[in-house]
Amino acid sequence: MRCQTCDQAERVAVHRAKMVERDGHVAVVAGVPMEECPACGERWLALDVAETLDVILRRLVASGAETATAHWDDLAPTAA
Ligand SMILES: [Zn+2]
Repeated sequence: MRCQTCDQAERVAVHRAKMVERDGHVAVVAGVPMEECPACGERWLALDVAETLDVILRRLVASGAETATAHWDDLAPTAA
Protein backbone atom coordinates (compact mmCIF):
# COMPACT_ATOMS: atom_id res chain seq x y z
CA MET A 1 0.00 0.00 0.00
CA ARG A 2 1.24 3.49 -0.85
CA CYS A 3 2.48 5.59 2.07
CA GLN A 4 -0.11 8.28 2.74
CA THR A 5 2.40 10.38 4.66
CA CYS A 6 5.03 11.04 1.98
CA ASP A 7 3.60 9.32 -1.12
CA GLN A 8 7.17 8.32 -2.06
CA ALA A 9 7.14 4.57 -1.51
CA GLU A 10 5.15 1.44 -0.84
CA ARG A 11 4.64 0.34 2.75
CA VAL A 12 6.56 -2.86 3.52
CA ALA A 13 6.03 -5.50 6.20
CA VAL A 14 8.77 -5.42 8.84
CA HIS A 15 9.45 -6.62 12.37
CA ARG A 16 10.62 -3.99 14.82
CA ALA A 17 11.15 -3.67 18.55
CA LYS A 18 8.72 -1.53 20.51
CA MET A 19 9.65 0.05 23.82
CA VAL A 20 7.70 1.83 26.50
CA GLU A 21 8.84 3.53 29.69
CA ARG A 22 6.48 3.88 32.62
CA ASP A 23 7.33 4.92 36.15
CA GLY A 24 11.02 4.18 35.65
CA HIS A 25 10.38 0.75 34.19
CA VAL A 26 11.35 -0.05 30.63
CA ALA A 27 9.60 -2.77 28.68
CA VAL A 28 10.76 -3.93 25.27
CA VAL A 29 9.04 -6.29 22.89
CA ALA A 30 11.16 -7.40 19.93
CA GLY A 31 9.92 -8.69 16.62
CA VAL A 32 6.62 -6.85 16.51
CA PRO A 33 5.03 -7.16 13.06
CA MET A 34 4.15 -3.85 11.45
CA GLU A 35 4.34 -1.94 8.20
CA GLU A 36 6.97 0.68 7.54
CA CYS A 37 7.60 3.25 4.83
CA PRO A 38 11.21 2.94 3.60
CA ALA A 39 11.15 6.56 2.42
CA CYS A 40 9.95 8.50 5.47
CA GLY A 41 10.09 5.86 8.21
CA GLU A 42 6.42 6.14 9.16
CA ARG A 43 5.15 2.95 10.84
CA TRP A 44 1.74 1.41 11.14
CA LEU A 45 0.51 -1.25 13.52
CA ALA A 46 -2.57 -3.31 12.82
CA LEU A 47 -5.26 -2.71 15.42
CA ASP A 48 -5.13 -6.23 16.83
CA VAL A 49 -1.33 -6.07 16.99
CA ALA A 50 -1.46 -2.73 18.81
CA GLU A 51 -3.98 -4.08 21.32
CA THR A 52 -1.99 -7.25 21.96
CA LEU A 53 1.23 -5.25 22.24
CA ASP A 54 -0.36 -2.94 24.81
CA VAL A 55 -1.38 -5.92 26.94
CA ILE A 56 2.12 -7.41 26.73
CA LEU A 57 3.84 -4.12 27.58
CA ARG A 58 1.53 -3.51 30.55
CA ARG A 59 2.28 -7.01 31.83
CA LEU A 60 6.04 -6.47 31.46
CA VAL A 61 5.91 -3.14 33.28
CA ALA A 62 3.72 -4.66 36.00
CA SER A 63 6.27 -7.42 36.56
CA GLY A 64 8.27 -4.87 38.54
CA ALA A 65 11.57 -5.43 36.76
CA GLU A 66 13.55 -2.30 35.95
CA THR A 67 13.91 -3.52 32.40
CA ALA A 68 11.84 -6.31 30.92
CA THR A 69 12.19 -7.71 27.44
CA ALA A 70 10.19 -10.23 25.49
CA HIS A 71 9.81 -11.43 21.94
CA TRP A 72 6.55 -11.09 20.09
CA ASP A 73 6.64 -14.65 18.76
CA ASP A 74 6.89 -16.07 22.28
CA LEU A 75 3.93 -14.08 23.56
CA ALA A 76 1.48 -13.70 20.73
CA PRO A 77 2.02 -16.59 18.32
CA THR A 78 -1.51 -16.47 16.99
CA ALA A 79 -1.55 -12.70 16.45
CA ALA A 80 1.67 -12.67 14.40
ZN1 LIG B 1 6.37 7.57 3.67
